[in-house]
Parts: sequence; structure tokens; C-alpha cells
Amino acid sequence: MADKPKKPGFTGWKFTLIYLVVFLAVMSGVNMFLAGKNTSSIDFSEFKNKIKSGEIKRVELTESTFTGYISEKKAESAQKIPFPPINLLKSESAPEAVYRTVAINDPELLKLMDEKNISYYAVSRQSGAILGVILNMVLPIALIVIIGRILMKRAGLGGGMLSVGQNKAVIIAEGDVATRFSDVAGVDEAKEELVEVVDFLKSPQKYTAIGGKIPRGVLLVGPPGTGKTLLARAVAGEASVSFFRMSGADFVEMFVGVGAARVRDLFKQARDKAPCIIFIDELDAIGKSRINNIAGGNDEREQTLNQLLVEMDGFDNTRGLIILAATNRPDVLDPALLRPGRFDRQVLVDRPDLSGREAILTIHSKLVKLSPRVDLAAVARSTSGFSGADLANIVNEAALLAVRGGRVLVDQKDFFEAIEKTVAGLQKKSRVMSDEVRRVIAVHETGHALAAAFTPNSDPVQKISIIPRGFGALGYTLQMPVEDRYIVTEEELLGKIDVLLAGRAAEEIVFGQISTGAANDLTKVTDIARKMITDYGMSGRYKNTALTQRGGGMSGESMPDPFMHREYSEAAQQYIDEEVARIAASRYEYVKTLLGGKRRLLNKVTALLMEKETLDEKEFKEVVQSDGV
Ligand code: ADP
Ligand code: MG
Ligand code: ZN
Repeated sequence: MADKPKKPGFTGWKFTLIYLVVFLAVMSGVNMFLAGKNTSSIDFSEFKNKIKSGEIKRVELTESTFTGYISEKKAESAQKIPFPPINLLKSESAPEAVYRTVAINDPELLKLMDEKNISYYAVSRQSGAILGVILNMVLPIALIVIIGRILMKRAGLGGGMLSVGQNKAVIIAEGDVATRFSDVAGVDEAKEELVEVVDFLKSPQKYTAIGGKIPRGVLLVGPPGTGKTLLARAVAGEASVSFFRMSGADFVEMFVGVGAARVRDLFKQARDKAPCIIFIDELDAIGKSRINNIAGGNDEREQTLNQLLVEMDGFDNTRGLIILAATNRPDVLDPALLRPGRFDRQVLVDRPDLSGREAILTIHSKLVKLSPRVDLAAVARSTSGFSGADLANIVNEAALLAVRGGRVLVDQKDFFEAIEKTVAGLQKKSRVMSDEVRRVIAVHETGHALAAAFTPNSDPVQKISIIPRGFGALGYTLQMPVEDRYIVTEEELLGKIDVLLAGRAAEEIVFGQISTGAANDLTKVTDIARKMITDYGMSGRYKNTALTQRGGGMSGESMPDPFMHREYSEAAQQYIDEEVARIAASRYEYVKTLLGGKRRLLNKVTALLMEKETLDEKEFKEVVQSDGV
């Protein structure tokens, strides 16, 4: 980030301020001292008397005052243009006793002075007076204003404020992005989704003519280093449009309002350049849920987020402007960001599986001279859990090792040495797992998948994977609903519970012991079972009864209501808890029996999953059917 406003230099401006105060105090002190020393204001009559008595020997006349001096000599400096301020002038010409009175148009006075032979003269103070006003009042004010300005500027406020939003240094559109989809591998599903975005950017009118709905925001979700930034760039490259890239952290500034101004500015520039892509990397930096920080929210971030929401709602996306964003913390995002019309399309960018890793290795080895002995498939096999960035790093590291070893071609052993170096680091971050752990995960996921396959009306298995996803789950089994279900039967709810419990059941069947890997599944099981009892009236004792909880109406979106209270007895609560446990226990026994009868298939799928790391719908179906069930 380039021109972040500087922190005000506290010692600097404090010093200036003190200096100013001292200066003014001294000035007025000197004025009072000098002016007040010998000059005494007296009544006109007394003034007259002093002339009569001959004490006053010389009189200076101005429009407003008569000044009497006791010496005859006229001070030279009296005619000088006064500086410093006018008060000093009088005192300068008055080292002696001076009497001053208010000017009165009294012809007798002149006569008297003529009689007494007193020299009198008029001094036009007109110019002096104006100058005096200027010097006495305007100058200090001007000084204060100037110093004030300097201080404000240092603090980055005031005049500087207007230009803050125009952040020239950060937002630069990249034209001619060279990245293409062919530079990205191992994330085929994400690529497929983005092809449509590219097509839209290339010819928006094709879509608008038909009245089709165009995506506004696409959120790339995935662990670090999986190629989210690379993909966003590839979209811009494929569509040959400009690419505005900003990181979420760039928006979060110390001054409230700066981030919001930057968002406004970004969108303004992008609108002028459309068709183009705005890419907000690390969206979570600004998009964190506002709900989670009730105590001491970050005003600045909230304002920035609000501005982003306003801009996303406001822009006319028929002109080919698309917002891409990336995050590896989708769980912390504010739900408002994910609403329709904003980032309603989410694309999962996962760590690559075996074939994906080989493809990524191939891409990155293009620029490296490989010995013919190098087997990238073997390298891919021993890099389970590595991200695209890790693999790019392996290739680079292997090349460096070859150079260090004085070889002109990169050898297989360079690759393995590079892998070994990296694995240690990744194991600490629990991204690379030992074979035993992978086996437990494979058995667990196979359990889910098989239970789904043999539960009537269950959603078909779309994908099984033992590649850690980075959001808690170590592996996952993806089920896709065939249709949107508006009504779910009791049997289907129990089926869901069966599938969820099947992971742990499979572990128990194969290893004779259970692990913590099922924690997430158990939360869901408990949730479904509880709802069956409280909301759907599907329990024995409270059949067709809703055991409701009512809130104080204070809850926001996804925020638990602190004033929630249940409208049923303590006894009912106890029954609910026991009944949930009973359902879970009986379904667990059921699913364990189910899987126990498919032991051979369980082993077969597990082995295949260990080998390939991911199985898609077709591959999974094939094994199940080949088993002749
Ligand atoms: P992310 O934004 O998801 O953290 P990046 O896109 O910044 O990851 O990836 C960093 C680098 O790692 C890329 O520039 C590229 O060299 C390499 N890389 C990551 N994922 C892939 C992939 N799927 N295919 C090819 N290279 C990749
Ligand atoms: Mg990135
Ligand atoms: Zn599970």
C-alpha cells in the first residue's frame, strides 16, 4: 500500500503549538509593558491643566487622541511605519512621561497651546491605524490559520481529506493479462464454472439480449495456495478485459471513511473501464461478519463493508462488470455478502487430487529441463495434500537442488529431496497426513458413501474425497439432491441420520475403535433428531406437538437470541435430550449392521479411494455395481 496517511508527528506539532503560544504571550506582554510604562490616560480637563502648568511641552494630535510629552524633542521614530505592532510605536516615542487623553474638538486648546508656545503637530494615524489593525489582529489570525493548516495536513485531515479517496497508487487496472486457463490445473470444477463468466465478459450483449440473468459476484472459496488468485487472473486473461485487483486488507485503514472512499473509487474506475473484472482478494478482511463483534465493532471495517454492499447492489451489470473475490475463511463472512445479487455464486477451489497434482507439476516443469528419468506421476503420488503453490515450490526447489549438485537436468531424486524438505513443514500444519490417518479417513468417508448408496431416497453420492479441505473437514462425501425437496418424510430424516453416523460406524467395523473424526457429523445428527422431536412432532410422547421456543425478537440474522425461552416444561426438555440420544444410538446400531454386511465392498472402495484420493459419481457407482449387489 503506497500512500497511507502518516501518523501525526506528535512531538513536532506540539512543539510548534507551544512555540506559538509563548510567542503571542511575550508579544502582548511587551506591548502592555512598554505602552503602560510611562503613558497615563487622563481627563481632558487635566490634560488642559498640565498644558497650562507647563508640564506638557509638546503635543501630538491624532483624530482620536491627544498625547502630551514632557520633553520638547520630537522622537524620530514616531513617523516610522510601526513594526512590531502599533502599540510599540507609541512607547518607542515615549521614553519619558506621557499623558494621553481622548481628542476633543476644543478650539480653546489650540489657543492655549499657542499662548504657552507649545509645539503641537498632527500625526495622521490613518495608515498606521490600518496597519496596526492588520498587524495586531489579522496577522495573528493568519498565523493561527496557517499553523492550523499545517497541523491538519500532518494529521491527514482537512484539506487532505478530499484527495484521500483518490488512491492513485493502489488501484491500477491491468490490461493484457497473460494468464490463461491452461496455466491452472487440478481445479476442473472451478474452471468449468468460470468459463461462463468469461463468455459473459466477452459478449455481454448475448446474455442481455435474451434477458438472461448475469452473475454479479463470484466468490472463490478454498484453502491458501490453491490458485484462487491465479484463476481470477485467468478469467481476465481469457476474456481479455482489464483486471482491478485489490486485497481486502488494502481497504482497512486507520481513518474511518478511507476504506469506504476507496471502494467507491474502485467501482467508479471500474465502471468507466467496463467490461472488466474487479478482484477483491482476501475478502474476509473487510467482509467479516458484523454480528460477531457486538462488543467493540470496527467502525471502519463496517463502513467499508457497507459501501461494498451498496456498490454491489448499485452497479449496472449489463455492461460487463463482474466482481470476483477470494477467501479461505468463508465461515466468517457476513451473510449479507452472500445474498442474491451479491456473491451469490460460490466456486470451490480445492486442493488437487492425484491427477490434478500431476497436471500442475507438468505445467510448472515446462520451464525446467527435466531428465528423462523423471516420473511426475510418481512425484504426484507422494505429494498428497499439497496445494498448487506447494507443487510450484517443489519444482522450483528441485531445480535449485540440481544446480547446487552441478547437474544440467533436474533428476527424480531432486524432486524427492524437495518433497522431503516441504513435507516436514506441511505436516506441522496438519496438511499432509500419514498413511494411517489417510486410511482412517478413507474408511470413514467410504462409510458415508455406502450408507447413502444403500439408503432408499437418499441423495446420490456426487464425490468422495480424502483430501483435506481446509475448513475443518479432513475428507468429505458430497451428496447432491436430485430435486429440491419441500417436504421431507420421517423415513428420509432417519436416512440422513444413518448416512451421517455411517462414517463412525465404518471406523468401528474396520478398526474396532472410533475416532474424533466424526464430531461434525454428530452435531448434525443431534440437530436433525432434536428438530424431529421439537419441531416436527415425530416423537412417541409428544406426537404431533410442537415444543417451541420463543424469542424476544432481538435476534439478528444468525445471531442467537439471548431472550429465547422455551415454552415447555423441564420434564419435556429432559425427554428431548434422552430421546435424541435414543434415536442416535438405535440408528447407529442399524447402520453398523448395514455396513457390516457389506464388508467386502467397504474394503474395495476404501482401497480405491486411498489410491485415487477422490472418486466421482461414476467411479463410485461402478465399484458398487461391479460388486454384484
Ligand atoms: P491462492 O490465491 O489460492 O492463495 P495463488 O493463486 O496465489 O493461490 O497461487 C500461488 C501460486 O501457486 C500460483 O501463482 C501458481 O504458480 C501456483 N498454483 C497454485 N494453484 C495452482 C493451480 N491450480 N495450477 C497451477 N498453478 C497453481
Ligand atoms: Mg491469493
Ligand atoms: Zn464424517
